[in-house]
Amino acid sequence: MKNNKEAITELKRILKGAENLVFFGGAGTSTESNIPDFRSKEQGLYTSAKKEDYPPEIILSHSFFLKHPKVFYQYYWDNLVHEQAKPNKAHYALAALEEKGLLKAIITQNVDGLHQKAGSRKVYELHGSIYRNYCMECRKEYEFKEIIKKRGEIPTCSKCQGIVRPAVTLYEEPLNLSVIEGAITAIEQADVLIVGGTSLVVYPAAGFLEYFHGGKLIIINHESTPQDRRADLVIQGSIGEILAEVADL
Ligand code: ZN
Repeated sequence: MKNNKEAITELKRILKGAENLVFFGGAGTSTESNIPDFRSKEQGLYTSAKKEDYPPEIILSHSFFLKHPKVFYQYYWDNLVHEQAKPNKAHYALAALEEKGLLKAIITQNVDGLHQKAGSRKVYELHGSIYRNYCMECRKEYEFKEIIKKRGEIPTCSKCQGIVRPAVTLYEEPLNLSVIEGAITAIEQADVLIVGGTSLVVYPAAGFLEYFHGGKLIIINHESTPQDRRADLVIQGSIGEILAEVADL
């Protein structure tokens, strides 16, 4: 592995020759906005959720939500809804790269909407977004500003009293098919793919990389990942700092 300075120079060189750049990001893209990664060992929610009787992957599952909406929503409001969070350097750098016409799409596993807040337009949200909500009974859609007024409660439908849920993919639920198709097409068309802030261990991240047949795979993460050996360039460090430098912000 090169040292970071050399690696960043190399990344800039790759981006100059890129014609179809795509970014695939995980929770690490948002941790610099103080949004915890509930899978990371040190500061993730697995260790901070001791007061709960259930682990996050149970609480955030479809069947648990149906059975215990109150516990689900307690957890959801406390741990997933960070409406005050601001985009960080990584989000802004990616928005700038899209503005320049270089970046063609972002594929994210995050549900926090921070890419859009930073100005990105082409964003495939694999796990949905806290900003979209709908009634489970009559499917009426609710704007986030209405939902956030119910912070701490179970939001219900003004029309039919049904429970309103976020359009966030829960455990046991399939990913949205049109989002998957869009993401796969973007990856298939990419000549350069930057993967950032994901350990690439958990489904579906690792699987999506199989669709990449472009020239250069770049991995930016704090720790090494199982896919590092197939990458053309691995940079360990802050994704915000690294992307800001290559986007000339
Ligand atoms: Zn309803």
